[in-house]
Amino acid sequence: MVKAEERDDMTWYSCEGCGLMFDVEDDAKRHEERCDAKEPTYLQ
Ligand SMILES: [Zn+2]
Repeated sequence: MVKAEERDDMTWYSCEGCGLMFDVEDDAKRHEERCDAKEPTYLQ
C-alpha cells in the first residue's frame, strides 16, 4: 500500500515496502508494483 503523509504543506506518498517517498501518487503506485521489498523494515 502507498501511504499518504503530509509534510511541509505537501503530501508525500511513501512505499510501505521500502519507504521510498514520492510527491506524485501515481509514481508511488507505479514504484510499488515493481518494488521487491514486501515487508516494511522500518516498522519492525
Ligand atoms: Zn518500494
